[in-house]
Amino acid sequence: MLIVQKYGGTSVGNIERIDEVAKRVKKAKDAGNDVVVVVSAMSGETNKLIEFAKYFTENPPKREMDLLLSSGERVTSSLLSIALYSKGLKSIALTGRQAGIYTDDIHTGARIDKIDSNKIKKNIKEGKVVVVAGFQGITNNGEVSTLGRGGSDLSAVAIAGALKADLCEIYTDVDGVYTTDPRIEPKARKLDKISYDEMLELASLGAKVLQNRSVELAKKLNVNLVTRSSFNENEGTLITKEENIMEKPLVSGVALDRNQARVTLRGVKDEPGIAAKIFNRLAKENINVDMIIQNIGLDGVTNLGFTVPENEIEEAKRVMNELDASKQLEFDTKVVKVSVVGVGMQSHSGVASKAFDTLAKENINIQMISTSEIKVSMVIDDKYGELAVRSLHDAYHLDRS
Ligand code: ASP
Ligand code: MG
Repeated sequence: MLIVQKYGGTSVGNIERIDEVAKRVKKAKDAGNDVVVVVSAMSGETNKLIEFAKYFTENPPKREMDLLLSSGERVTSSLLSIALYSKGLKSIALTGRQAGIYTDDIHTGARIDKIDSNKIKKNIKEGKVVVVAGFQGITNNGEVSTLGRGGSDLSAVAIAGALKADLCEIYTDVDGVYTTDPRIEPKARKLDKISYDEMLELASLGAKVLQNRSVELAKKLNVNLVTRSSFNENEGTLITKEENIMEKPLVSGVALDRNQARVTLRGVKDEPGIAAKIFNRLAKENINVDMIIQNIGLDGVTNLGFTVPENEIEEAKRVMNELDASKQLEFDTKVVKVSVVGVGMQSHSGVASKAFDTLAKENINIQMISTSEIKVSMVIDDKYGELAVRSLHDAYHLDRS
């Protein structure tokens, strides 16, 4: 098999950990696999470099930031290659440029345009473990670029796609994807498999195992992803296309997103163009609107509510006050979003009503609802967030497989 293994910051967090990673890589290699490794910087390293730059100015030039930040991954990739060498393996460390990762020229948030994988392939053929510095690439002008925070996942998936690897393993400090956050519900169960779409929903709802862009790319390139821990031998969770999952569970997981705030407009004119005006303006100011509800109007006026990330509420306040589109404005940050996610709900009814029932039994008021083919989301008072997660987890029997 050709395996791409990606190790995150905590997995290469110190020299002993890098040695552990080398042992794991050697095991995969000794088992007869071809192995390409992508590494993050040591945990905390990227933040430290950003701090250093901010000592001088709040707005450091982005080109220089890319050069600076790309160094963290160079350190870990070369150290890992040296560690592999010390264990008798042939290996080579490559920077993003050397690995042929071409990006656009948006410094600190570049997108991968194409991968010229010839050099990686040549080294694999020579029996080497190829260790690639994640998170970075090169622009057409030969400038170093980085892919945005958490971008090493993206490097790994893109390389796995370009090499048509059999598997892309993402190593972190957690065992995989859980039915819900085990810190909230100790009965949470690790999932063996989950579809790309479910993972995307869960990740955007706060299950922070994988960077969302990397899951999107894996879906597009059809890369089989496994997230697992580098601290034990547990199996991890396979993220794959829906067709590869035989028994589709009705519900795969429950997510809690605490970073939510609600904006309510009362007495909005009920006429064409109002919603367009409000949401265009919010979009222009880069405020991420999530759920939207509008009532049926009465006597020429209506009420409108929507949610934004809690850390964007001050911006939203400013914009809404300027816009002056309603008689009355309300802002509430004491809300959370609870979501039930599962591909099985596409073909079964009753999933949503069970969620509403469950919250009703706990006397939890639902302020907003939104649904998609594979998700039901509800905005509720934040003090009931964890209770709601536990009750829903229970209601769908997620502790059992
Ligand atoms: N080192 C980069 C970061 O901390 C990229 C990564 O770890 O994926 O964001
Ligand atoms: Mg909140």
